[in-house]
Amino acid sequence: MDAGGEVPPYLVGLRLRHRRVLVVGGGRVAARRVPRLVEAGARVDLVAPEVTPALEGLADAGRLRWLQRGYRGGDVDGAWYVLAASDSPAVNAAVADEAETARVFCVRADDGAASSAWTPAVADLPAGPGRPAARVAVSSGQPATSARIRDQVLAALAPEHGPVPEADASQAAPSGRAHRRPAGIDVALVGGGPGAGDLITVRGLRMLRAADVVVADRLAPTGLLDDLDHDVVVIDAAKLPRGRAMAQEAINAAMIEHARAGRFVVRLKGGDPYVFGRGYEELQACVAADLRVEVVPGITSALAGPALAGIPATHRGLAQEVVVVTGHVPPADERSRVDWAALARLHGTVVVLMGLANAAAIGAALVRGGRAQDTPVAVVADASHADQQVLRGRLDQLGELAARLPAHAPGLLVIGSVVGLDRRAGRHRPAT
Ligand code: SAH
Repeated sequence: MDAGGEVPPYLVGLRLRHRRVLVVGGGRVAARRVPRLVEAGARVDLVAPEVTPALEGLADAGRLRWLQRGYRGGDVDGAWYVLAASDSPAVNAAVADEAETARVFCVRADDGAASSAWTPAVADLPAGPGRPAARVAVSSGQPATSARIRDQVLAALAPEHGPVPEADASQAAPSGRAHRRPAGIDVALVGGGPGAGDLITVRGLRMLRAADVVVADRLAPTGLLDDLDHDVVVIDAAKLPRGRAMAQEAINAAMIEHARAGRFVVRLKGGDPYVFGRGYEELQACVAADLRVEVVPGITSALAGPALAGIPATHRGLAQEVVVVTGHVPPADERSRVDWAALARLHGTVVVLMGLANAAAIGAALVRGGRAQDTPVAVVADASHADQQVLRGRLDQLGELAARLPAHAPGLLVIGSVVGLDRRAGRHRPAT
């Protein structure tokens, strides 16, 4: 097929919400690109015999459909857009051929010249003085060049996306990235917020954009990985609920090895690194290896989850305390260090992370301890994502509510009078 020769592509914006997108291949390229397709609301069908843990996590959470097999003719049927990203050029060619025949635009990750569509380098430009938020896309035919131009546009229009203020300009720059590298640190432990790409902090985003290596968790804002330079090494540290965990030691070892080799490592975590995130263990491992570490706090899902559901964690006259606990072991379990009876005596707000599976037992323990069984509660899943879900009810229905959420979706429980406030006041959830 003609790559277009000198003719630059005609750029359009695809509105993919509820539209079927076919992705063939479940390796690193797919892991980088699929989160943004999911964020765009596409109905992603992922065809691959094997996928990375992060992609498996998206499938488990019901955010895409994983067809665990090889590509077959006919897979393109009904798709609006196709990404051929398997490691076999022959398979990618077959997918692209079928797409061409069906007149569906297709990106071939391994061969731009044989692709009917190219993905531009993209960045979200935050609202600025006299300017609404906008998405910037750059297409030059050379992915690395596009990324560099995109960065220059961002730096000019949104300086907060530029280097951290103490960036080390003296570094010899193998790429545009090196001049953004903060001086005096080897590893940044970055809290990425609840998951939406625009709920990371400015400093966290700056760190990410300077990274040579990113070790990313499943609950981190993985949509941002697609914007990184093509030579950035992205390591999937997804810790899936059902095992298949890359052991914590392996995560630490990867961070240490890359940082010792002189690469700037960003450990991108969900929420805040120090809220049930094992962040301090990672800091200790790096410090023990003589690495210099900076911790960038993030917006914890424990507070953002309720807020995005329209629930204030505290409210004058209603809640004078907010307690964040883990519910990963049930109250009666001898491994539990949480004093549920004490929590039941509180009048304020209780937020439970990792507690969906034990919601019924948690609700019962709180009622047993004296909390009224009609206390308003909410369960919030996938906070800040396009498929965010909020269910409300009474404390004695907590287990039932949690059971109605998609299995394996990240979710939290909110218990307290604040849940009963009028949720129609204001807009709480970012537009997607
Ligand atoms: N450090 C993270 C929490 C890690 S524990 C933070 O500060 O947010 C993982 C738990 O966080 C999940 O089991 C879930 O309870 C909660 N969580 C993380 N992201 C979430 C989201 N987008 N929506 C709802 N709950 C979320």
